[in-house]
Amino acid sequence: MKLTVIGTGYVGLVAGVGFADVGNDVACVDVDASKIARLERGEVPIYEPGLDTLIASNVKAGRLTFSTDIAAAIRAAEVVIIAVGTPPRADGSADLSAVFAVAETIGQNMNGFKVVVTKSTVPVGTADRIEQIIGRYTDQLFGVASNPEFLKEGAAINDFMKPDRVVIGSNSARALEVLRTLYTPLVRTSDGLHTMDARSAELTKYAANAMLATRISFMNDLAVLSEKLGADIEQVRKAVGADPRVGPKFLYPGAGFGGSCFPKDIAALQHIAKGVGHELEVVRAVESVNHRQKRLLFEKLRRHLDGELKGRTVAVWGLAFKPKTDDIRESPALVLIHDLLEAGARVRAHDPVAMDNVRAQLGERITYCKDMYEAAEGADAAVLVTEWQDYRQPDFARLKGLMRAPVLLDGRNIWEPQEPRSFGFWYSAIGRP
Ligand code: NAD
Repeated sequence: MKLTVIGTGYVGLVAGVGFADVGNDVACVDVDASKIARLERGEVPIYEPGLDTLIASNVKAGRLTFSTDIAAAIRAAEVVIIAVGTPPRADGSADLSAVFAVAETIGQNMNGFKVVVTKSTVPVGTADRIEQIIGRYTDQLFGVASNPEFLKEGAAINDFMKPDRVVIGSNSARALEVLRTLYTPLVRTSDGLHTMDARSAELTKYAANAMLATRISFMNDLAVLSEKLGADIEQVRKAVGADPRVGPKFLYPGAGFGGSCFPKDIAALQHIAKGVGHELEVVRAVESVNHRQKRLLFEKLRRHLDGELKGRTVAVWGLAFKPKTDDIRESPALVLIHDLLEAGARVRAHDPVAMDNVRAQLGERITYCKDMYEAAEGADAAVLVTEWQDYRQPDFARLKGLMRAPVLLDGRNIWEPQEPRSFGFWYSAIGRP
């Protein structure tokens, strides 16, 4: 099929290359000319494991092209996939200006039947609005579908190529048929494809993210309780997760969730609910627990240092919102760094891939280090925020020798408490005695 993917970010780029890899002819387009220029030079503008080689092989095979000429790419396509950003507005609602701008461009360039697919996460009812916008410009037939994306940054290619499930929502039988064909090479099991109406598909994406966020906030709340009661949340987590009705995934207590999806999607979902007069009380609690959790490491450190943070040096390990990505949107590390700088502390930071993105935001307000050891040099405390593999087995003796004071906060419970303690560290984790 001839596809055009509009928006070449984490989702659009992965979807574009994924569909190309199974034999489609894909044009990836974007308004960001510098991004497209980099892609045309063979550079990949984001860090995502395996993406560079997959792009290179599909460009070489002539199935994947990049362009800023969105109008031409729409005219050439049978299926147009919208994968632009839907960032949060100040009131928590999703900003749909890019989605609607794209819908107008599609309407203006209709030259035959096309399926218009929204992969961006959008509020319920957006497919209807896209249909109205396109319909204002054309008499040509078209079908609009919602096809929310569930990939995880850091494992995006595998998630896209071998999805647990694919959701396609449309009120057009013809659009559903085209998309069923498009996904056939990727969906291996008969129950892997969920077809439904567009509104249900749009709600499914928010429901899925809200459910995952709920599990995390639930465990974070219990972790705080566990610590106060002298219980070990890690023991509790394993035993609770052993029940097949619960399952072990997404039960890890930590420094709060960040990223470009969960925080914005739970805010948008509450806004959607309010719009129809319903208060989502559970989701509201999930959000407020997360806000508190993102400040927990700072509060622990302040307490330990008797409020004396001015002039102290703190090492921060891990800046991305999770391992295996360079995405720092809503990262708990940035909340911590902000609080530390406000309190007059100096920050020495390390992350395997996200330091350039942080530098673009914070400039030289913090010191960027080549590894966790350099970050620890002269530090009064070290805080692990993102559980990169690189940090899992440190040389604790070396760290202790480098630091001014042996103070360690583990925001992801990656070490067994007795390990750093056996080297003389004051060690605190999340929800552990
Ligand atoms: P992103 O910010 O990485 O990429 C969005 C791209 O859209 C950018 O390259 C931007 O230049 C481009 N763009 C913006 N306006 C445009 C326009 N008018 N015309 C053409 N291009 C335009 O965003 P992302 O992380 O890829 O997310 C995209 C959507 O997918 C969001 O709605 C997000 O919620 C959803 N989503 C993201 C993930 C994820 O893990 N990142 C997972 C599932 C769903």
